[in-house]
Amino acid sequence: MAKIAVVTGASRGIGRACALKLAQEGFEVWANYRSNEEAAKSLEDEIQSAGGSCKLLKFDVADAEAATAALAPLEEEPAAVLVNNAGITRDGLFLTMSRENWESVINTNLSAFYNVTKPVLKGMSKAKYGRIVTMSSVSGQQGNKGQANYAASKAGLIAATKSVAQEYARWNILANVVCPGFIATDMVDGLPAKEISKQIPQRRFGKPEEVAEVVAFLASERCSYVNGAVINVNGGLFTG
Ligand code: NAP
Repeated sequence: MAKIAVVTGASRGIGRACALKLAQEGFEVWANYRSNEEAAKSLEDEIQSAGGSCKLLKFDVADAEAATAALAPLEEEPAAVLVNNAGITRDGLFLTMSRENWESVINTNLSAFYNVTKPVLKGMSKAKYGRIVTMSSVSGQQGNKGQANYAASKAGLIAATKSVAQEYARWNILANVVCPGFIATDMVDGLPAKEISKQIPQRRFGKPEEVAEVVAFLASERCSYVNGAVINVNGGLFTG
């Protein structure tokens, strides 16, 4: 039976590329999304028409009850892989940032780590195997003007993942972080790509597939001694 890989925010962008790659690698993908039915259905079709297996899970990762209910079956039938990828931005300078925009980003990006990882980890700890990959960002490493909420959430994910990595390594559950720079998805659609690319040593935005390559390694059994690591996928934008 195929091993299960849960990917949050799998309907579009980086999560979609991760879901496709993991399906190619033989995982049964449990693809979470929030609202975009059309994108989710097209992911399912693409995986299935390539002979893979995909189950769509519609829930808001910020909703603890919904996440727990959707992921409860994984206590009995553990997932091998969890990719914590779903994320949003609500940018604005700090003094003009509404509480709502602060909270929605923290809840969707950071509290979702708690909501989703906990039920999945329960099964993994019984199985004594797991690979957890969490999508942070260069903003979480450096901070970024206009992104106090987003940067805080992404920095929190790094610390949370490093903690889980240390807690569960004994049971062969490894947890790592990927920090993308600018990746061409809907999330960065409105940004001046030409201008920004001048600041990137590789002079271009990355592709979702380039992030998925790294995720696929961290999600695999080939990843056997990388744990608590923060891997940059940013074209050299930040090298710390
Ligand atoms: P995207 O193109 O905007 O796609 C976001 C995905 O997350 C969609 O599948 C969306 O589902 C899902 N999603 C959003 N909120 C959700 C929620 N509350 N519950 C469940 N699913 C939710 O974003 P992306 O650029 O691929 O970003 C993916 C991850 O990489 C994010 O964590 C982001 O912060 C991080 N990242 C991105 C970049 C970049 O340059 N793109 C850089 C650094 C880090 P629906 O389709 O249903 O809306």
